[in-house]
Amino acid sequence: MRFPLALTVKIARHIIKHKILRTPRFALVLQLEPLHTCNLTCTGCGRIREYSTSLKDMMTLEDCLASAQECEAPMVSICGGEPLIYPKIEELVAGLLEQGRIVYICTNGMFMRKKLKDYLAGIYSPTLEPTLARLLDEKLISDKDTETIRKGKHDGRPTIKPTKWLYWNVHIDGLEYTHDLIVEREGVFKECVEAVRMAKILGYQVATNTTVYKETDVKEIEQMFEFFSSLEVDGHTISPGYDYDAAKKDMVKRLGRQPEDFFLTRAMTIEKFAKIQEWGERFTIFGTPVYQEFLSGKRELTCTAWAIPTRNVKGWKAPCYLMTDGHYERYQEMLDRVDWNKYGVVNGVARDPRCENCMVHCGYDPSGALGTNYQRGDNWKNIRYNFAARPQPYAAGRQVHAFNGFSAGKGHLAEAKAAINTGLAGAKSAFQNNGNNGACGSGDTSERDELLAKIREAKRVDLKVE
Ligand code: SF4
Ligand code: SF4
Repeated sequence: MRFPLALTVKIARHIIKHKILRTPRFALVLQLEPLHTCNLTCTGCGRIREYSTSLKDMMTLEDCLASAQECEAPMVSICGGEPLIYPKIEELVAGLLEQGRIVYICTNGMFMRKKLKDYLAGIYSPTLEPTLARLLDEKLISDKDTETIRKGKHDGRPTIKPTKWLYWNVHIDGLEYTHDLIVEREGVFKECVEAVRMAKILGYQVATNTTVYKETDVKEIEQMFEFFSSLEVDGHTISPGYDYDAAKKDMVKRLGRQPEDFFLTRAMTIEKFAKIQEWGERFTIFGTPVYQEFLSGKRELTCTAWAIPTRNVKGWKAPCYLMTDGHYERYQEMLDRVDWNKYGVVNGVARDPRCENCMVHCGYDPSGALGTNYQRGDNWKNIRYNFAARPQPYAAGRQVHAFNGFSAGKGHLAEAKAAINTGLAGAKSAFQNNGNNGACGSGDTSERDELLAKIREAKRVDLKVE
């Protein structure tokens, strides 16, 4: 099965219950942002800009747990910011699991091995020695780490333990060269890979989380799937990035420029996701086949943003993860007071201009599961996709030249940065900006697109030199 049976049953029961009760709108996945602080400053991160005045604020543990209870979503995606910075992340994960939720920890990967080592210290006994020897052998922990683990953990706090109800969801936007440039720090991709390998050895479920931008090289995304599949990750989430900017829209209108010059349009998303169904056969892509059909342009769906609500320090964010028209104190208040008929695209017509080109996962993936725009056979399609045997790990993915940046001496602080800045006429450093979108955020994706275009050009120059 692509997704474990118990988890599928839990979600299916939740949907059936609300269908029987005829609940007009209900939550499937809660995007919980306990804080917006982050250890990285990725090019174009939406969250660290949109919430720049409240970066130091965080939700209390009680508030986080109460939010999950309030909306009753069977799945909670803990994001941010970087959720592993949240001082009570272990208590939060334990509390959500105790409530019977499926938990995703959406992380940039930098503190993941620290949490895995804490877990090992918490369960240490001499029977763990062969595991420690393997981790040492594979250079995933150091001798000093081993000593610390052997001392055990005595602070009385919980640790994040492997369970079928939990996934690490690691943000990866490309292979090493691209990913490190986007997150603006050398070694992040390598750290993510080491964290994924260590987590798999310890029996955790791990997924990758990727956003596709206008300038994303689709071939590289495919290679990324091949590589992480060879590491036996348990699934991949992938979504188109999207931004709306009234100023750019105005330029389209007044100067007669093509929307493609500025936006990841629906047509471009469809082009980028043309192979999504083929990928779904080769790799464990999370998301319904109905949503995959939508992404590849084979059908229409109506936005159900209320099914993936976002809760953060300011309240319940409406109408969706991407756009902010307001924050509400209560989930039900948000459901009641937002005019949901003002959003989304229906029969090709955008109800709100900002929704015109949006096909993002947080607006449309639940539509596929909830039977919005139901077509005969959809339920069977979703069941067959999920119950089919999980695609085998792609062993040849080990041959992918994944470490093509920092590890190969091309970190963004050295050759790559120089190549980008000299290889393109007038190219300004993208590294000085804290722009407005990222895998964790919303807003203007153009900074990241600009950077990806530069990366592509720099790689072309690189290849010529080699
Ligand atoms: S995109 Fe995510 S990892 Fe990057 S700075 Fe923003 S919150 Fe942090
Ligand atoms: S269509 Fe996209 S931007 Fe519009 S409300 Fe839905 S998720 Fe948000």
